[in-house]
Amino acid sequence: MDTRELLLLEEADRRARAYVARLESAPVFPDHADIERLDALSEPLSKSGHSPTSTIELLDDVAGHATVVSSGARYFGYVLGATLPVAAAADRIALAWDQAASSPETSPAAHALEHQAGRWLLDVLDLPRESAVGFTTSASAGTIVALATARRAIAARDGWDLDAQGLAGAPPIRVVASALAHVAVLKALRILGFGLDNVERVPVDRDGRMRADLMPTLDDRTILIVQAGEVNTGEFDPFDSIIPAAQNAGAWVHVDGAFGLWARASETHRHHTSGIDGADSWTTDTHKWLNTPYDAAVVIVRDGDLLAASMNSDAVYTSASSHAQKNLTLEFSRRARGIPTWAALRTMGRDGVQNLVDRNIALAARAAEGLRSAGFTVHNRVVLNQVLASAGSPHETDRIIKSAQRSGETWFGGTTWNGERAFRISVSSWRTRETDIDALVTLLGRLKAGSDVGGPSAVQHL
Ligand SMILES: *Cc1c(COP(=O)(O)O)cnc(C)c1O
Repeated sequence: MDTRELLLLEEADRRARAYVARLESAPVFPDHADIERLDALSEPLSKSGHSPTSTIELLDDVAGHATVVSSGARYFGYVLGATLPVAAAADRIALAWDQAASSPETSPAAHALEHQAGRWLLDVLDLPRESAVGFTTSASAGTIVALATARRAIAARDGWDLDAQGLAGAPPIRVVASALAHVAVLKALRILGFGLDNVERVPVDRDGRMRADLMPTLDDRTILIVQAGEVNTGEFDPFDSIIPAAQNAGAWVHVDGAFGLWARASETHRHHTSGIDGADSWTTDTHKWLNTPYDAAVVIVRDGDLLAASMNSDAVYTSASSHAQKNLTLEFSRRARGIPTWAALRTMGRDGVQNLVDRNIALAARAAEGLRSAGFTVHNRVVLNQVLASAGSPHETDRIIKSAQRSGETWFGGTTWNGERAFRISVSSWRTRETDIDALVTLLGRLKAGSDVGGPSAVQHL
């Protein structure tokens, strides 16, 4: 055993621990000076290389101070979850293992862990237990996989072999999606060649839910894409009225549940997802609300054989095993990205996941209440972990967003809702507590009253 290798790992570990130790105190977004120091990374590729130690030093000393602390308690941007300690710890071990998690043959351990994680996911999300679960890099990738599988299965209904005959001349397939479908869904449709102009968009109500009464007539040559957790409002499409009708018509129903599907883990909030288990495929992230490290998401397909046939990485035209992850995802060689999910679910159990979801939703409600008291307008019903708010004018709203982002005390982003400028607070971290929400509300109240907090660099220079 080369002791230098162990020393290097120890050094990396020491630095990683130090980073985690300063999650609470570090600015949530790096200041200008720390970002400017990233220039040190623009070195020419050296001929003879550098010592491993100096590489790790540069990584941590320079880049490690220009990170966004989205894994902390006070980051509310996009829908970025933090990382559960056990999920991060498991990922560290998985990294040491460096498994090629393609199939049971390339790694019995990775296969067993991802298989078990898949069973538990179906359990905690209460989806059809016969489904196959592919551990993808993202919900974006999972959506591509699900829609490719749906298209291949629908083409086969007309006796069209998409693998052999391709798209040219294939029987047309309709796609119906919400007017507020996520950009990742639109990207998947573009990549797969559906053509965005061909997508039938269903209008939404004022909360952002698909209007069931304006749904076009569906048929068995249609893919219907519904949404659990609209990114602005956190709202759910009315699955109970939409999905049974779509199933009766023979349409393929896909659910984009990147974060909203996790409402199913909560006895209190599950009702929003009622009927969602009647779909054919689902995507959700674990790197968002389950708080595993990136890149971690799943594609779930009720008919696992259809998924395996579509993602077949075994010899072409042989039937593919739905037990090998290489046949359930886009990748052939892949890391065992389901391991942190296994660790998170095993450690938290059903109650722990429910608690995480419930706590975040309660904190979002607390933020909404606080913001209202501070004179902000809250635009959404706050049914989930998203709060959509504005100040008096678009200019005022933007000023507050910018000042808050500069403060280093928090970070969240702006958005446009029903033509109005707004900001969005997403509560997605296990670390966030009531005191963090109260501090956020206090800060925003101060900013609204006109005081600029200055930012971390101003603080340093005082
Ligand atoms: C984040 C998100 C996606 C994309 O997921 P990635 O894992 O980031 O690719 C899709 N749909 C919704 C609703 C999302 O919030």
